[in-house]
Amino acid sequence: MSVVFDEKIHQTLDDSKLQLAIYTATGRLMEKRREAVAAGILPDYQELRTQANDLKKHTIENLDYYLEQFEANVTAHGGKVVYCKDATEVADFVLSLARERGAGLIVKSKSMTTEEVDLNERLEHHHLESVETDLGEYILQLAHERPYHIVAPALHKTRYQVADLFTEKLGVPNETVIEKQTMIARGVLRQKFLAADIGISGANFLVADSGAVVLVENEGNARLTTSAPKIHVAVAGLEKMIPRAQDLAVFLKLLGRSATGQELTVYTSFLSGPRRGEEIDGPDEFYVVLLDNGRTRLLADRDKRQSLYCIRCGACLNHCPVYRKIGGHSFPWVYSGPIGAIITPQFLGVTHEPGLPFASSLCGACAEVCPVKIDIPQVLLDLRSEVKKTEAREGHGKLERLAFRIWAWIMRHPGIYEMLGAMAASVAPPAENAGWLRDVPAAFNLPPVRAWLSQRDLPPPPARSFRQMWRRR
Ligand code: SF4
Repeated sequence: MSVVFDEKIHQTLDDSKLQLAIYTATGRLMEKRREAVAAGILPDYQELRTQANDLKKHTIENLDYYLEQFEANVTAHGGKVVYCKDATEVADFVLSLARERGAGLIVKSKSMTTEEVDLNERLEHHHLESVETDLGEYILQLAHERPYHIVAPALHKTRYQVADLFTEKLGVPNETVIEKQTMIARGVLRQKFLAADIGISGANFLVADSGAVVLVENEGNARLTTSAPKIHVAVAGLEKMIPRAQDLAVFLKLLGRSATGQELTVYTSFLSGPRRGEEIDGPDEFYVVLLDNGRTRLLADRDKRQSLYCIRCGACLNHCPVYRKIGGHSFPWVYSGPIGAIITPQFLGVTHEPGLPFASSLCGACAEVCPVKIDIPQVLLDLRSEVKKTEAREGHGKLERLAFRIWAWIMRHPGIYEMLGAMAASVAPPAENAGWLRDVPAAFNLPPVRAWLSQRDLPPPPARSFRQMWRRR
């Protein structure tokens, strides 16, 4: 684990107000999800999860076919598909489009994919104003922070912090009532929508058989982003593809419920090209930027490519005991929680933050709630193995490997295991002294033992082993 990762974790753990904010917000989302998928409310929930998994598996295994079909349909409707291999190519495309059309102001709706490529920062670097219009994202843009959570980006901010931020950045009176804060943001953002030249959105789904970009949201800002400016650019990862419009019947039922406990989000938009002759609103130009950024590398990995099934509902974050303690900003990239722990090493390489796949208790809660049934614990185990193999290649971790080899040898020899257990029991302190190992100075001073004991007790071995008790029985 890197020093930065370790420091951020401890900063979050030491902040009691932040701990309460994370725990309360994720707890509320957990409860809402639980109610929304209860057997009496959604009897076919497990069947829907199986269908969603099957559909995603099929799409990812045939992605080349569906990408071509999607592109053909977007083109037929007058739009254009642009393939980008990384962050630079996305920024270059938007910059050249803005230059050609003389654009100066961009409005954006919430998109983790654009966060992934730091699009705002890259555009601002070239003196283009790019304004987030989702309330949570707008708050974070003013605070110069990245999202804390996939679905609720400003989950860690209290209304008092937002009031201070608005006063400082917008020069408005300190207002702590959330509805009034919303009206302040709305007043600023309405003007931006009216003046914007380009609207950039993400995409929740890309529908191959109709060439549609599907967006789900609760605030209506994505609708304004995609219809008020003359140009709409949707930026999406390749994996957002689904084969048919009718498959949305499965995914839309699962997404809202898993994310916020809603049957459906307030707005669901299907966008399939620029404004047509008889339509009264919509953009004149429509582009879909399909981002690779490491995704096609994953396609070759039979076991781990299931990570691309993710529909970014955030349920695994809310249910993860680790996320609920260390929060979103401790994670080394924009994607946090269990899904962040599996896609960050795969997109950026396992050496980016080698401790990440280990930051999990492997309790399995994430896999239990994932609406597309990604086996996150198994992917984490595979990534742990990759980290260890990489360390071995680089000549690190020799002592740890030796210790595990010895342990494996002992485990394969039950007689020796039993003898060592009996020896430990014969010198063990009384059972009630759980902190006994701390009293052993030499052991306590070894850094790995000290780190382990800083969070845990090691109960003394019992006087009689399980094997002995079993034999007596
Ligand atoms: S991994 Fe599953 S639970 Fe987590 S965000 Fe993605 S779809 Fe939701």
